[in-house]
Formats: sequence, C-alpha cells, structure tokens
Amino acid sequence: MPKTYDTIIIGAGIAGCCAAFALQEKGQKVLLVDRSSVPASGGSGAAGAFVSPKIGKGSPLQTLTNEAYEYAKDFYLKHFPKYFHQTGVIRIPKDAEDAEKFKRYEPFNASRYRWVSKEELEAIGIQNADKSFLFEEAGVCDAPAMCRAIWKQVPFMQVDVEHLEFNENVWHIKARSHALRGNAYDNINSKENSTPQKVSVCIKAKNIVLATGYQNTLFDMRYMGVRGTWGSRGDYYSKLDLDVSMHKSISVSANIDGIIKLGATHNKAKDPCMACDGKPLKSLEEQGSQMVDTSDFLLKETFCGMRSGSRDYFPLVGRVIDTQYMLETYPAILRGLKPELKHRDSLYILNGVGGRGFVFAPLMAEWLSRLIVDGIEMDKRVDPDRLFLKWCRKL
Ligand SMILES: Cc1cc2nc3c(=O)[nH]c(=O)nc-3n(C[C@H](O)[C@H](O)[C@H](O)COP(=O)(O)OP(=O)(O)OC[C@H]3O[C@@H](n4cnc5c(N)ncnc54)[C@H](O)[C@@H]3O)c2cc1C
Repeated sequence: MPKTYDTIIIGAGIAGCCAAFALQEKGQKVLLVDRSSVPASGGSGAAGAFVSPKIGKGSPLQTLTNEAYEYAKDFYLKHFPKYFHQTGVIRIPKDAEDAEKFKRYEPFNASRYRWVSKEELEAIGIQNADKSFLFEEAGVCDAPAMCRAIWKQVPFMQVDVEHLEFNENVWHIKARSHALRGNAYDNINSKENSTPQKVSVCIKAKNIVLATGYQNTLFDMRYMGVRGTWGSRGDYYSKLDLDVSMHKSISVSANIDGIIKLGATHNKAKDPCMACDGKPLKSLEEQGSQMVDTSDFLLKETFCGMRSGSRDYFPLVGRVIDTQYMLETYPAILRGLKPELKHRDSLYILNGVGGRGFVFAPLMAEWLSRLIVDGIEMDKRVDPDRLFLKWCRKL
C-alpha cells in the first residue's frame, strides 16, 4: 500500500468505479473506498442500467446526455463488453399526446435510430404502443456485474468515511471499518449491514473524489442541491421471447439469459423510504403487463435504491467550493456580489448523475481525470460552480 495515494475515491457506485478507473488509466495511484464490502450497494445496484439516448427538442441537457451516451456505449464495448448487452432500446410514447411530440423530437435524434410501427411492435410482442423510435446501438448493463468488473481493476478498501482533514497538502481520511453481514446488495437501509466494528483507520491522499451518491454528508455542499429519488427494480424469470429492451413510463429489458427486468425511479425522498408501502414492484408489474405479456413472470429478486440528482438535472463534476469561507468573507454575496470563487484544496466531486448514472459516469469520469491529472478545465455545463451564486442569493 503506498504511503499516500494520488487520489482516494469515496463511493463504489458506477460514478466512483468509473472515476477510479479513469484516474488509474492516467497513471495515478488510486484507492476506491466504500462502506460496503462490494460495489454497487447503493443506487447503482438497483439500476435497470439502460444505456440509451435522451429524446426531446434539443435541450442542452439532451445534447450533453447524448454526448455521454455515445461515449458510454463505446467505453463499455471496449473495456467491459461482457456486461453491456446491445439489445437495442425502443422509446415508446406514453400516450397519444406524447406520440405527437415524437414527430417534433425526430430532428434532434443525434444517435442512429429508426421508426418502428405499431404493427411491427405488436409482431414482437409489444402491446399498447404507438409508433416508436428504435435505437439499435443502445442497450442495458448488468448493473452490479458492470460495477464489479470495473471495481476489480482498481485497489479497494472497505471503510466508512467519517471525517476528512486537509493538512500539509494531504487529505487525512478518518474512517471506520465495517463488519458486513448478510447480503451486501440488500436494501442500503438494512439493519443487517449496520454493525460497524470499532476499528478506526487513517488513510492519506493528495486528492479526494466524492462519489457518494445521495449520501452527501461529508462537506457543506448544499449549493449543489443533491437530492434522492427512490426507485425499484424487479428481476423476473421468464421464457418470453423478447430480444429488445424498451422504455415507456417504466423500463422493460430484453430477455437476457432467462431474466427480464422491470424498473423505474419516481419517488422523491430524502431517505430510503417505503413510499411503495412495502410493495415496491406493484405498480411496475401493473405497467409492465400493459407493455408485454408478463403471464409467466416469476419474481427472482427485488432491488430498491436511491439515485441522486442535482438542482438543475445536470451532473455535478469538478471542484468543491469552500462554502463557509465564501459566506464569511463575502457577506454581500447574499445580495448579489460576485467575488472570485474559492475552492477546497484538492477536493472533487462526481455526483448528480440522476436517472442516467450508467450513461453519464464514463464520460464524466474521463473529464474529471483530465481536470485532476492534466489540469484541463471542467466543462461549464457540469461544473458545480454554476449553482453557487444563485444558491447564495436565495439564502
Ligand atoms: C430503480 C432504478 C433504476 C435506474 N435505472 C437506470 C437506468 O436505466 N440507466 C441509468 O443510467 N441509470 C439508472 N438509474 C440511476 C443510477 O442507478 C444512478 O444514477 C447511479 O447508480 C448513481 O451512481 P453513484 O455512483 O452516483 O451513486 P451510488 O450507486 O448510490 O453509490 C454511492 C456509494 O457511496 C457509498 N458511500 C456514501 N457515503 C460513504 C461514506 N461516507 N463512506 C464510504 N462510502 C460511502 C455508498 O455506500 C454507495 O455505494 C436507476 C436507479 C434506480 C434506483
């Protein structure tokens, strides 16, 4: 173990795994840490993990998402093809009104696509669908397996980070080691997994990357407005002949090795919750049965998790502002003063990837590694700085 790492990445979801991988590719000595003994114990493990383009009328978020989609597709195919299934993804209008909008969306489909008619959809077993877009190069990751495959490429330590201090140009991380019991992919709120041993560890690094998902408690980062959205996924045994994935109001995967996944994230929540009233799959199953023949579906496993989005739905990638310093030094900031921003030394974030973590993570990780290693400024669209002054004026 090196005395001081170049970068420690906290959080082994898809964001942290990709960040560690990208930094290591650039020659850094990295350490990925997570409070769980395995990757993807948070939102990433629950993801349906569709890697598909965003449709719409060419908004800046659509443009960025589709840039990230192209990069992600190539990244997974190049490095981890076993866990990315290029099934194609059909985007189905939610209703007749939505179907009208699809015609206006067409000019903004930057990725390869073709229309599929109602009849063609019926012939492949998709019910109640209007004319749709088929993105043939899109697909679905096996979420935990993809994270695990990336995680295996980088050094990892299981610790629960409690505190970080920056002294003499080095971050000192105070953490506690966990004794994990039970299935680590269980609900993140599971009591089974919450028995920390009183073993304190201190590890050091020149840089820190926070990839902690919705659990954003280590620093004051209120200005980024990270918030959680709760969602569920059910994996079902089925013999249904379905070789394409689709998204309407929920996602239905192709049948891959006898398993079809139904998933969606919709419930805004501060904490993992039981917004689903203990039946997380009830509405998914109802909606799924409107889309395909679910009569032989047999539940294999249920996954629940939180994904974290930002205030403006763009990812949060880059340096972290020293909020306390800014507010104390420039009280007039609340009334519209625009001083130069001061960042925390060598502290970075990769978060806010929302409902498209598997789409955004590879490109965002690449951009972050260019900032940390090569000093290339972050793309303004994802730089968290964009949110700070506006947030101050609302205090
Ligand atoms: C039901 C569902 C369906 C989804 N479908 C899709 C989809 O089809 N396509 C898509 O691209 N995305 C999808 N998503 C979104 C995607 O899952 C998220 O965007 C992504 O998982 C976010 O990854 P992350 O690495 O930022 O966070 P997480 O996966 O939540 O990882 C954060 C990690 O940080 C760790 N951590 C936090 N604090 C500490 C600490 N102090 N010390 C140590 N470790 C810490 C946690 O243990 C956790 O492992 C879906 C999400 C859900 C819930």
